[in-house]
Amino acid sequence: MIYLDYNATTPADAKVVEAMLPYFSDNFGNPSSAYRLAHTSLKAKEEAREKVASLIGAKPNEIVFTSGGTEADNFAIKGVAFANKNKGNHIITSTIEHHAVFNSCKWLEEQGFKISYIPVDKYGTIDLNKLKDSIMDKTILISVMHANNEVGTIEPINEIAKLANKNGIYFHTDAVQTTAKVPINVHNMGIDLFSLSAHKFYGPKGVGALFIKKGTKMDEFMHGGHQEKGMRAGTENIPGIAGLGKACELAIQNQYAEEERIKTLRDKLENKILNEIDEVVLNGHPTNRLAGTLNVCIKYVEGESMLLDLDSEGICASTGSACTSGSFDPSHVLVAMGVSPVTAQGALRFSIGRYTTEKDIDKVIEVLPRIVERLRKMSPLYKK
Ligand SMILES: *Cc1c(COP(=O)(O)O)cnc(C)c1O
Repeated sequence: MIYLDYNATTPADAKVVEAMLPYFSDNFGNPSSAYRLAHTSLKAKEEAREKVASLIGAKPNEIVFTSGGTEADNFAIKGVAFANKNKGNHIITSTIEHHAVFNSCKWLEEQGFKISYIPVDKYGTIDLNKLKDSIMDKTILISVMHANNEVGTIEPINEIAKLANKNGIYFHTDAVQTTAKVPINVHNMGIDLFSLSAHKFYGPKGVGALFIKKGTKMDEFMHGGHQEKGMRAGTENIPGIAGLGKACELAIQNQYAEEERIKTLRDKLENKILNEIDEVVLNGHPTNRLAGTLNVCIKYVEGESMLLDLDSEGICASTGSACTSGSFDPSHVLVAMGVSPVTAQGALRFSIGRYTTEKDIDKVIEVLPRIVERLRKMSPLYKK
């Protein structure tokens, strides 16, 4: 099997799994209990918190564990919205956010909040002037992702953070795709809220964290016990948290060293696809993009059909959008970038990671042109 869908999820590193195992069995204590067994769990949790904080330049007491990226995004946006509604009801976001942010904003609209969705250019980069113009007295939050999961474009979050700071507005970034891939320092960069998820960087699924800068006015997310200083009640996922901590520790040790190798593989795949298949468009920024992400639209074929053919060759890829079965809506990200809905149907995303080899890339280069040729023979629109 050739796995080229690292933006969807990654396999847990063997060292991560090893770090988690004791907390399922021997060290199963509830961290809120009073005996030494419980203290082992508590210690694991606080050590993981230090590692998460250290990876992103935060202080440990600014990290709250969540069930993943989706919860961290919901927590950040709804938590700020309701705690600051006396100051204002306006939130600014982009047109290319992950659904965890996008649908949280949509829901807040139903609760009486006003949302500005700032457009992006053809590369998927947010329009900073439009963002600036949309700021009002009532603006309480700006939420713009660090890098887009479908096309990989990296957003100018330094500039956005500066704008937000200058205007006394909280700034949240969904950094699920950049954590452990792009160096970050939340304090130096002026970020107030930062979402991350373990399973996108070789940690387990179902665990993540939200950085909440000290002093941020926030409502708690889960109501119940006193866990996570009352901000997020519920007995903690200690094995998952230990795994998240280990994934952060490995990222700190690696110092982003694997990004160069990943980029070389991505560039090879990109060049071959663009050279060997006609009528292909590259999506996303040509250079300011995640090292492992390649998103192309192959005209006159459907992304879904290519995925099935690739799968039968043992290759896992994606159309980029997590399309629910039966729905053939084109990706909201590509449409926001000005790609026509018809072209967007031919989107194909390959995302490369730690265990990708050159042989994997060669295999894709070998089979993809054949697949495209076969599918195009069935397309009434394609004329060679
Ligand atoms: C995967 C992803 C999420 C959701 O994270 P989960 O841990 O799967 O809930 C949010 N935002 C982005 C950009 C993602 O890629």
